[in-house]
Amino acid sequence: MRPGSIKISRVHFPVTTLGYGRRIGVWLQGCSIRCPGCINPDTWDFATGWEATPEELMNLVGRWLSEADGITITGGEPFDQPSGLQLLLQSLRAHFDGDLLAFSGYSHDILFAKHPAILQHLDVLITGPFDSAAGQSLSLRGSDNQRVFLLTPKATSRYPADMDSRPWEGVRHLDIFFDGNDAFMAGIPKPGFSAALHRGLQSVDLRSGTPPPQFDPKQPALLQNQYE
Ligand code: SF4
Repeated sequence: MRPGSIKISRVHFPVTTLGYGRRIGVWLQGCSIRCPGCINPDTWDFATGWEATPEELMNLVGRWLSEADGITITGGEPFDQPSGLQLLLQSLRAHFDGDLLAFSGYSHDILFAKHPAILQHLDVLITGPFDSAAGQSLSLRGSDNQRVFLLTPKATSRYPADMDSRPWEGVRHLDIFFDGNDAFMAGIPKPGFSAALHRGLQSVDLRSGTPPPQFDPKQPALLQNQYE
């Protein structure tokens, strides 16, 4: 890795399902947490994706900044690349007035203790691993064990004060992006949606998304859970 760079999986705009308004979505590459049932297993492998400095990423997303309300950093696990994440957030903060939101699979205890220098650049932080057994009734998160923290006045001006306990309301939306022959989904689907989509596409001889990650003999349960 070049100094100051960060591993990226993909970048999309506009993302309307992962925070306030129309957002730039930045999916980072690599996750050491590997929650069973994660909908983005293609972002787990640190060896894939592409490497960019904050300046290179700014060049890429710069054309969208004037239209975007915010930027969502997800993955992959953003805090598995703490140095690159801090530099990236500093750069985004310096060039962008919208809110900066990050998802992490680490607990808020760990993040507040280990990464205060990173958190000072964020407006919204969503924490905790995906846990399919915890239920999925709360807005803006994949499972109900996850927590939402509004860290700045900008966040409290845009998001409801009860965000951490706010239930999902109305129809749940997903963003679908097309890139050549590939299609990517952004948002938080209902339980069972990924499996139903996978089976539906298979039934018409289409491959769904990215293949499951490499089999890891130390964690045999992980692959079984991907499409169940
Ligand atoms: S849900 Fe997040 S933390 Fe969990 S495996 Fe997926 S990318 Fe990693």
